[in-house]
Amino acid sequence: MTSPDAPQPPRPPEFSRRLVLGGAAAAGALFSIGAQGASRLPSGLFSLGVASGDPEPDSVILWTRLAPEPLAGDGGMPATSVPVRWEVAEDERFARVVRSGTARAEPWWGHSVHVDADGLKPGRAYFYRFLAGGEASPVGRARTAPARGAKVDRLRLCFASCQKFEAGFYAAWRHVVAEDPDLILFLGDYIYEGAPNKKDAVRLHRNPEPIDLAGYRARYATYKLDPLLQAAHHAAPWALTWDDHEVANDYAGALSEGNGDPMAFLRRRAAAYQAYYEHQPLRVRPPRGADMRIYRTLDWGALAQLQIVDDRQYRGPHACQPAGLIEAHKPYRSVIGDCADLRDPSRSMLGAAQERWLDERLARSPAQWNILGQQTIMRQSIVPDAADPSDAPHYSADNWSGYPAAREKIFRRWVEAKTSNPLALGGDIHAFAAAQIVDPDRPDGAPIAAEFVGGSITSLRNDPDFKRLAPGNGLAFAENMVRGYGRLDIDARGGSVTYRGLADARREDSGIADIARFSLEAGRPGLHVETI
Ligand code: FE
Ligand code: CA
Repeated sequence: MTSPDAPQPPRPPEFSRRLVLGGAAAAGALFSIGAQGASRLPSGLFSLGVASGDPEPDSVILWTRLAPEPLAGDGGMPATSVPVRWEVAEDERFARVVRSGTARAEPWWGHSVHVDADGLKPGRAYFYRFLAGGEASPVGRARTAPARGAKVDRLRLCFASCQKFEAGFYAAWRHVVAEDPDLILFLGDYIYEGAPNKKDAVRLHRNPEPIDLAGYRARYATYKLDPLLQAAHHAAPWALTWDDHEVANDYAGALSEGNGDPMAFLRRRAAAYQAYYEHQPLRVRPPRGADMRIYRTLDWGALAQLQIVDDRQYRGPHACQPAGLIEAHKPYRSVIGDCADLRDPSRSMLGAAQERWLDERLARSPAQWNILGQQTIMRQSIVPDAADPSDAPHYSADNWSGYPAAREKIFRRWVEAKTSNPLALGGDIHAFAAAQIVDPDRPDGAPIAAEFVGGSITSLRNDPDFKRLAPGNGLAFAENMVRGYGRLDIDARGGSVTYRGLADARREDSGIADIARFSLEAGRPGLHVETI
């Protein structure tokens, strides 16, 4: 839990001792420990690494979770509160510590620690670490956002999603680290909730499908133990939102894909949200039961504002479902035709409160670039339906094509609020895609924005239809056989989005190459395809 103590608390002398640390990160460093009972803690406390996130001009969230037995429900920790010292320094050797304090790792939050390290200078990099039980954590590198309203030369942001553990290794993250991004934006499917499944697997999930807190903790630990994923957290601050698999496939509010008992599903959602909170460097309030607000903005000086949304927690039921399906607790229909309620203007993807919040943010944002960090593909897309060979269009019920009125509200808001240079970044579809966004009231007019879906870190999508249908769906680019991520580089005049594709996501040492690039021009909405 957050408890950044500005002044360093006095150290009880009877428990003080000085230790010499091993390990490259802290070689030769001396530090003292004031933790009562620290000697009783098991070793290997920092098995899950460290992370930073949600930078502000004067602060950044620092995260770790003490878990000497990371796959155990309690992480192998005693059921007691544990003091954890944190330090922020200007140098990697911690000779110039500028902020420090003691936070408490509480058993009811899985001994996770979220420190709001404040009093920092804007727009610069810092090093941080945690100390507990005579051990030092790995050293992470964080970054503060530029000063509010400051002119900023540039922003480099890598955006990614969908990292199914079983489908590949995390070579993509090694390449992200090499890009030295200011910020990493993760757009959902950080974990997958499925049971271990050997089909197409290069490695297996280590616990059965989670439904309770212990199960979700073990699943996050499985992912977080990966050294390449840890290295990406250690290299730069992240901003995250979730999609469905952080809880369960294709859920909508309180409805699971199987339309099971909503009360049972909300108990599961509460466990999943708590585990998500416990494992991510989020600047949000901890969850209360099955509720956790994660939509928020993040400013990068005068240059950019990210509006990070949650399209799962508050969405209405999927459209065009057969009557009585929910009541009968039968699985939802994921491919739908057109029906009366598809375009019902009252149907919502974000929920009314989040929609109002977004409307206000889009109207008041002072930023030159406005980046909507959302989960999936916004462009209206036709999908094949093997069950219906007729020419009638079919849509995915689970992405924005299943909530067209909600999507058009955002597009119209960009126009009416004169939002400066809007862009949408997304994930979810396990494919790279890029498209112009047009005003729904002037479909033949010039683009009002562009959207970029940045592939998947590992998760697969093998169907040939995605590329076949791409021209008809108006995609300027479509690639679903290559894994990877997107990189956004912007400055005051313009910038680019580059898609980075792995040679083979099933290899830890895979190389990477640019597979597409699009240029952006401030004041001229839309994307411009470049040749690689
Ligand atoms: Fe996914
Ligand atoms: Ca998804």
